[in-house]
Amino acid sequence: MTAKLIKGTEIREQILAEIKEEVDKIKAEHGVVPGLVTILVGENPASVSYVTAKIRTAKSLGFKEVQDNQPEDITEEQLLALIDKYNKDDSIHGILVQLPLPKHIDEKKVLNAIDPDKDVDGFHPVNVGRLMIGGSEVKFPPCTPAGIQEMIVRAGVETEGAEVVVVGRSNIVGKPIAVMMMQKGPGANATVTVVHTRTKDLAAHCKRADILIVAAGVPGLVKPEWIKPGACVIDVGVNRVGEKISEKTGKKVAILKGDVDFDAAKEIAGWITPVPGGVGPMTITMLMRNTLNSLKFRLGLM
Ligand code: NAP
Repeated sequence: MTAKLIKGTEIREQILAEIKEEVDKIKAEHGVVPGLVTILVGENPASVSYVTAKIRTAKSLGFKEVQDNQPEDITEEQLLALIDKYNKDDSIHGILVQLPLPKHIDEKKVLNAIDPDKDVDGFHPVNVGRLMIGGSEVKFPPCTPAGIQEMIVRAGVETEGAEVVVVGRSNIVGKPIAVMMMQKGPGANATVTVVHTRTKDLAAHCKRADILIVAAGVPGLVKPEWIKPGACVIDVGVNRVGEKISEKTGKKVAILKGDVDFDAAKEIAGWITPVPGGVGPMTITMLMRNTLNSLKFRLGLM
């Protein structure tokens, strides 16, 4: 293997330790801790497991964690009233509504009801606008793209003047990471190309990339011959391609594959993220950082 592995699992531990240190300091000096509420509607097993992971991490950092579970038949009006309650609660700095919501509830209306200054997911149109403007306007960068940028920077990959190619143009990964990498500032200043299903020659674009960020959701889409030797390859894709019995727990677990042919790509790339254990662990980590930052904005520390 020639590529250096960029392990999200390791970077996560570094960042969580940094957050914990700041939380302890703010608690000692100001007597407050970051407050995060997670609103879960219904009992979708995947949502329950995401929320559980978020709660566990928030607690381990000393956050105030409010877990607000609501029944599947909650009305839209009731949910909006609940969000209004947390918008007004000074001990809460981050509000998370776990998606998907039941069909009778308008997701957009609910997400837009969150106070943009507590929108730690960064999906509110106000925060999307702030991200586009860049610089000090940015409050809450969306968590997965923020995690990707953090991995690139912490791995020591030069972004200034780099050719960045982003495969995928979704609102949660492709578009925001493209905007973030092209902004004027540290960890960015790149020349960015975004490719998608209507792109004429995907391979030709990928081959130019010094930093290739792949978020398509297609297992093995990126072939090794599409990778420029020495490039940094960030594989965001998480694709369930089967099931196996876990050696640790003896239970059935999903077999996960990324969007890049990892085994071959690692012989060509300079840096590469594995799947699992790459970008995945970064999302919750950046959510915690956004929640801490929300408190810091409130205290005038940022
Ligand atoms: P998405 O909303 O389905 O968007 C996929 C994008 O990829 C679309 O813009 C699509 O193009 C493009 N695309 C799909 N197939 C392509 C192909 N053959 N050639 C070129 N472009 C192609 O997906 P997403 O939400 O961004 O997620 C992408 C992947 O990242 C998924 O595997 C998801 O599970 C994973 N993910 C991981 C994390 C994490 O690790 N924390 C977080 C979020 C997402 P069009 O726009 O033209 O359709």
